[in-house]
Amino acid sequence: MEKKHLIGLSPEVLAEELEELKQPRYRAKQVIDWVFAKGVFEFAEMSNLPAALRASLAERFNVCLPEIVTVQGSADTTRKLLLKLVDGRFIECVLIPASPALYGQGSDRLTLCVSSQVGCAFDCKFCASGLAGFDRNLEVHEIVGQVLAARKIAGQRIDNLVFMGMGEPLANLANLTRSLEVLNAPWGLGIGARHITVSTSGLAPMIRKLAEIPMQIRLAVSLHGATDEVRSRIMPVNKRYPLEELFRALEEWRSLRKQRITFEYILIRGINEAPDQARELAARAKSLGAKVNCIPYNTVEGLDWERPSEEAQDAFREILEQAGVPATLRREKGHDIDAACGQLRLREVGDLPVGKKIS
Ligand code: SAH
Repeated sequence: MEKKHLIGLSPEVLAEELEELKQPRYRAKQVIDWVFAKGVFEFAEMSNLPAALRASLAERFNVCLPEIVTVQGSADTTRKLLLKLVDGRFIECVLIPASPALYGQGSDRLTLCVSSQVGCAFDCKFCASGLAGFDRNLEVHEIVGQVLAARKIAGQRIDNLVFMGMGEPLANLANLTRSLEVLNAPWGLGIGARHITVSTSGLAPMIRKLAEIPMQIRLAVSLHGATDEVRSRIMPVNKRYPLEELFRALEEWRSLRKQRITFEYILIRGINEAPDQARELAARAKSLGAKVNCIPYNTVEGLDWERPSEEAQDAFREILEQAGVPATLRREKGHDIDAACGQLRLREVGDLPVGKKIS
């Protein structure tokens, strides 16, 4: 019999499974507590359970986390984790310390940038994650497992989550929404919905579906072009869901949520950085009450895009601000270890980054 993954099961569902083993319901709560509250992933160590139950749990369930292969530290204390999944595939996630601008000096808040798929099918022309194509969706236990593994490395709680790692979260919607429940649940990781951001390349129908879930999660949209002409050049997904359709879905989202939508906008020299794009972007952002994160393009090996000059970056942001659109220009964290936006990619084992090996 193939073992079920325990991470992802709610206490209610687990209680039903345990009924078959003639166990009282409260045992389920105890098991879930070991995993999420205490971070114990061996049934043998769950000392308040009878030995016979521990053994039968171990026969039926798997509680393994993705294996932490390397942890690379960056000069700005961002850390990138390379994780190996049970089928030997690799994903990456990134621990990002609090920005003093947001939380004040000395804050120890932590954000984790998680992956939702192995590889990516959307082929954005500036992004490393799609270079080797799409491999497979991540399962719930693998999405949640990234957070549990990162918490172990960090030795502290993870406060914020951003689905901005490898993959398109909305192309893995069923597993994404079930993961969100576990990440948010008091019995799970207890991360507040407002501290969870899902980022999408703009899958309009899926945005509508995600809008139906009753959690006040935040939405970020990778826009990168304010006209169809510019956006389609660098994001093939725009041919499927052009701006008009995307914005209709975003308006629906907006009508159901209080928080502002965030637009991510990479600045690429000679492509989308001109003042007229900034003005178009400002008008679009204003129509939705959205804010904009401008991100100077991060170098991806094998791609020859470039960042605009710093003056052009600042000018772009100023046009947004003057139009009354809240805009930041994010000087990236983790650039030196290829852990910044768009730099996460599939790797061969022979190509492991040099980092601290974790046994
Ligand atoms: N597929 C989703 C989730 C990935 S988020 C999405 O597209 O939103 C990854 C973020 O990094 C996106 O905003 C993406 O556009 C951005 N990104 C990709 N390549 C980049 C690069 N070379 N430099 C800076 N940001 C990049």
